[in-house]
Amino acid sequence: MHRLRLLLLALGLTSAFSVATAADAARWWRGNLHTHSLWSDGDDFPEMIAERYVTNGYHFLAFTEHNTLQDTNKWITVVTPQKGATPAFEKYLARTGVSWVETRRTQDNRTEARLKPLAEYRSKFEQPGRFLLIQSEEITDRWKTAALHMNAHNLREVIKPRGGSNVVEILQANINAVFEQRQRTGQPMIPHINHPNFTLAITPEELMQLRGEKFFEVFNGHPTTYNNGTNRTPSTDSLWDIVLTRRLAELKLDVMYGLGTDDGHHYHTNAIGKSNPLRGWVWVRAAQLTTESLIAALEAGDFYASSGVKLRELRQDAKSIALEIEPEPGVTYTTQFIGTRRGYDARHEPQRNTAGEVSRVAHTYSKDIGAVLAEVKGPTASYQLKGDEIYVRAKVISSKPHPNPSQRGDFECAWLQPVVPGAKP
Ligand SMILES: [Zn+2]
Ligand SMILES: [Zn+2]
Repeated sequence: MHRLRLLLLALGLTSAFSVATAADAARWWRGNLHTHSLWSDGDDFPEMIAERYVTNGYHFLAFTEHNTLQDTNKWITVVTPQKGATPAFEKYLARTGVSWVETRRTQDNRTEARLKPLAEYRSKFEQPGRFLLIQSEEITDRWKTAALHMNAHNLREVIKPRGGSNVVEILQANINAVFEQRQRTGQPMIPHINHPNFTLAITPEELMQLRGEKFFEVFNGHPTTYNNGTNRTPSTDSLWDIVLTRRLAELKLDVMYGLGTDDGHHYHTNAIGKSNPLRGWVWVRAAQLTTESLIAALEAGDFYASSGVKLRELRQDAKSIALEIEPEPGVTYTTQFIGTRRGYDARHEPQRNTAGEVSRVAHTYSKDIGAVLAEVKGPTASYQLKGDEIYVRAKVISSKPHPNPSQRGDFECAWLQPVVPGAKP
């Protein structure tokens, strides 16, 4: 036993709590950092959603409601004389029982149910080392038709969207608001940029300019977030490569990491066109299942995004990447090592409309950006950096179709975080 733990035991300080020590081995925790419930525009009660994630092998879950925390007094209509009870309410009542559910009758004969604040239901699900809920928000801002959404994790207080006069200014103001609260409270908090392709919201040229932002969603399970791109936007994979190349080589800004999330809203039917849960997640390597430990690991890039592929081993540093996949029978795996080399063709052109005016969409770039530097088939793959790469990242693509894809034809994948030669370990 570690000496610190012995000491604390002797002092009677450990009781039911485990104490983090350097001797504790880090392990992998699976979680989803983007979830909606009836507290905003999701269609189920948070307890039902939390239980769904617990029973599907997740270790942590962040509720990210639009511009609110789950901490107010909120009642919603669940029964009307015309339509009867909503299916969500019937299922909720059947599962949790009359002693848990709080209802009231309105003057016009509707029944309302009170949404339980996170603080009231979290103890039903949280267990040390098993499951954790994180208090988060989807800060929901807008510039013209561009929906500018970003999640903020582990908040103490709600953040009102800050607004501004262009996309970069608005995103930066909201990022800064998260770090202001972190600074003021001393509690670790992180912002993450959501679904850049949703409503053609954020171009790579805008995303790359953000300061202090370490995360964006390379995979989002909502059907209109267009991970695979559209005729006017690159895929989120290509967007990531543009952002990484120009941040590191031209703008001298930090690396940006890629998250996988659900952005679940629809919990009653699974279909393409619905934003269902259990589509994309992160595996985070941390010593403990605490928000502080998870945030530290995320900020260190010690995680990967997944839409189904699971790793058994992952070792990566500034010189090499080595991974072993946990293989499934009958499934084959291709690992691509993707990066940009120094001396790349850095020319890029804005796209123009038929009148010749510059459109606010991604520029066009040379094939040097985000090139496939090597490709390996099979359950193990490794790559030694040559030394002239600006960054290298691995993507594992399986032959197994996603069981409930947000985009038709998606296969299960894993996205590893970029390594940067010469970066501090
Ligand atoms: Zn959103
Ligand atoms: Zn969302």
